[in-house]
Amino acid sequence: MNKELETLVRDNIRRLSPYSTARDELQGAPDVFLDANENPYPNGWNRYPDPRQKALKEAVSQLKGLNPDRIFLGNGSDEAIDLMYRIFCEPGEDNAVAIAPSYGMYEVAAAINDVQFRKVLLPEGYSLPSEALLDACDSRTKLLWICSPNNPTGNAFPQEDILELARRFKGITVVDEAYADFSSKGSLLPKLQDYPRLVVLQTFSKARGMASLRLGIAFADPYIISVMSRVKYPYNISGEVQRIALESLGRSVETQVEEIKAQRERLSRALPRFSCVLKVHPSDANFILAEVDDADALYSRLIDKGIIVRNRSRVEGCRGCLRITVGTPEENDRLLKEIEGYEKGDIR
Ligand code: PMP
Repeated sequence: MNKELETLVRDNIRRLSPYSTARDELQGAPDVFLDANENPYPNGWNRYPDPRQKALKEAVSQLKGLNPDRIFLGNGSDEAIDLMYRIFCEPGEDNAVAIAPSYGMYEVAAAINDVQFRKVLLPEGYSLPSEALLDACDSRTKLLWICSPNNPTGNAFPQEDILELARRFKGITVVDEAYADFSSKGSLLPKLQDYPRLVVLQTFSKARGMASLRLGIAFADPYIISVMSRVKYPYNISGEVQRIALESLGRSVETQVEEIKAQRERLSRALPRFSCVLKVHPSDANFILAEVDDADALYSRLIDKGIIVRNRSRVEGCRGCLRITVGTPEENDRLLKEIEGYEKGDIR
């Protein structure tokens, strides 16, 4: 066990005796299950699922080249985000530092857990404000959130800048790589071995195309994963989701990811040609942040035409911006056509 990591964990969590499920205690290979008060008549889902998700973790392990003991599976990344606070932050005492603007759940989960949340605004050009982030930390800072590629700005930060922060910050650095499959900057997973205080989040909701299944992954030191497994709800991933995800992992999404990246480039070239588009920020993700002359007007116009984008125009650091997810080629055709109609003032 890693002593340094152990001291970062809240005392009550370190002392926790976790709930032990019926199937955790399973020994041998019984074929009569009278241990869990289930309905004995088979219908496909009358039995509790594997609380440790052994088969699915094995498949993720193969896919990512990491041992299963470095893998946590959650009900979306949001479960892992919440667990970071519950495991490392003493409510009312500890704090977390994050870049801003970034994914909103880091702040919501902090508020739910009564943890002070300190935001450090990204500068123009959205480079990583390393010194300002470290300046915002004090002895009660337990978590540092870096989302790369970042939502909603779309850019990925250089790996070396993130790793330098992870070395200098003595708490847990959480790097959210939800969009890493779309980025040429790659993933920090190969670095985990050398950075025990680093947690990397990924999700099956984006490139993997399984948003409805709700499956997020945390990769970390085996000690952190063991604590996460003790704190999570015993059956946090349903049997159906485990089964469908396992089947789905056998299919490659490479062609789709390549198409999405090609469409991202197409939109990045096409959007600046409209005079209502003032700036298109470079993107390493599957969305584009575009500053427009009147975000509310264009947003409403697109809604009227049946297209919904994300209006981020009131968020500090991306004033006047819409965040547009890259769709299929046909959906992107429609988007461009409707922006063209909006520019021409054509009311159809
Ligand atoms: N991280 C980031 C950066 C996101 O943008 C999102 C969702 N938009 C998530 C995590 C949540 O992913 P999940 O569906 O796995 O909860």
